[in-house]
Amino acid sequence: MTHIITSLCVRDRGCIEVCPVECIIPGVPLEEFPMVYIDPDTCIDCGACVPECPFAAIFPEDEVPSAYTAKGGEYINKLGLTGHYEADNHHGTHVVLETTRQLEAGETVDLTPDIQPNYDFFTSGPGYSAKDNDNGM
Ligand code: SF4
Ligand code: SF4
Repeated sequence: MTHIITSLCVRDRGCIEVCPVECIIPGVPLEEFPMVYIDPDTCIDCGACVPECPFAAIFPEDEVPSAYTAKGGEYINKLGLTGHYEADNHHGTHVVLETTRQLEAGETVDLTPDIQPNYDFFTSGPGYSAKDNDNGM
């Protein structure tokens, strides 16, 4: 089992430092890998990252909601969306994303398609080498 970062992730980065096995990696380039990703093969399922995320974007894999009910105002961040998001992250770095959509209160979203990108990032994507191109965003 692993934990999964879903598209509720807007790269706040609070989760990264608390991972005891350093398996949480920010995606680059943003146009291809807009989220932050957990390596499913290395995650030890400790759960330490979950309370660190101000957007509640992280779930155990078998608890990723297929019908997440939006509080309203939160963003989803995934390829194919074209909305603009910007804010300062956990470290004060300004984050700008052009792959978002703001949710309306009460709307439901299936977050289970976000599971596979966590796997793909490490098998066919840049994986840990993304750290070499990390600009703090
Ligand atoms: S703390 Fe949440 S929003 Fe921030 S990078 Fe981690 S999963 Fe994404
Ligand atoms: S559950 Fe633990 S090991 Fe897995 S990504 Fe989160 S902090 Fe790291």
